[in-house]
Amino acid sequence: MRMDKGRVWHWLAIFSLLSLWSLNTMAKEEAVNIEVSRLNDYLLFFYAGRGDAVNNSGEDWVSGAAMKLGIGVYALHQGKKAIVYDTMTSVAQAQWIKNYLRKELGIEHFTVVQSHWHLDHVAGNEAFTDDNIIGQQLTRDIMVEKKAAIESGEEWGEPAINPLVPPNVVFNKRMDIYLGDLKLELMNFNVHTKDANLIYIPKDKILLCGDTLEDTITYMVDIVMVKFFCRKSKPHLEKISFSDVESCSQ
Ligand SMILES: [Zn+2]
Repeated sequence: MRMDKGRVWHWLAIFSLLSLWSLNTMAKEEAVNIEVSRLNDYLLFFYAGRGDAVNNSGEDWVSGAAMKLGIGVYALHQGKKAIVYDTMTSVAQAQWIKNYLRKELGIEHFTVVQSHWHLDHVAGNEAFTDDNIIGQQLTRDIMVEKKAAIESGEEWGEPAINPLVPPNVVFNKRMDIYLGDLKLELMNFNVHTKDANLIYIPKDKILLCGDTLEDTITYMVDIVMVKFFCRKSKPHLEKISFSDVESCSQ
């Protein structure tokens, strides 16, 4: 069969576009560099950033800030179910974690628990669009309010998160969830941000505390609420007996 010149160019153009697309996809996949640590029989820690990333020349909020600081995600698993605490700084990173859990542990059912609304914790939510994403009502409210600005890259600058996927299961202040027989107590404190959502695991006295603790220090962002937090949170803190906490992970 003879092809005319126009058709040859047409197919060459399609082939070039496909090659560029696959190279671009590979580059994105290769850019994901995540370290995995097992902390106990049900708890994994995924870490990205620092190391070479401290020399990043980019000034965007991912390479110029979040990756320099380092970012971590916890995954709790039992049987074929996993709960992932936040979704990293990109869909590619979140998908990498999801793939790892599928491949290495045979996880089939995923749930995300959101620690707070900050972009370096919610950017990968799109990878969990078909799963439940649990968060404080406050977290959803803030994300919905800022959705247009975040999706256009105006909130923290580029890269934009588009689409931004807010939590679809929400609660106020306190909720317990179970992963198999493992009880997780979710609780809101106005530390770092007013929507901070911590996970306490009473069985092993482990507290996963998101950004309420960074490098052993607390960075308050919603500073205007500090007075209110100190007054209102005292009775809650006393009830939870944090003096019992044996491991506290940021
Ligand atoms: Zn934060």
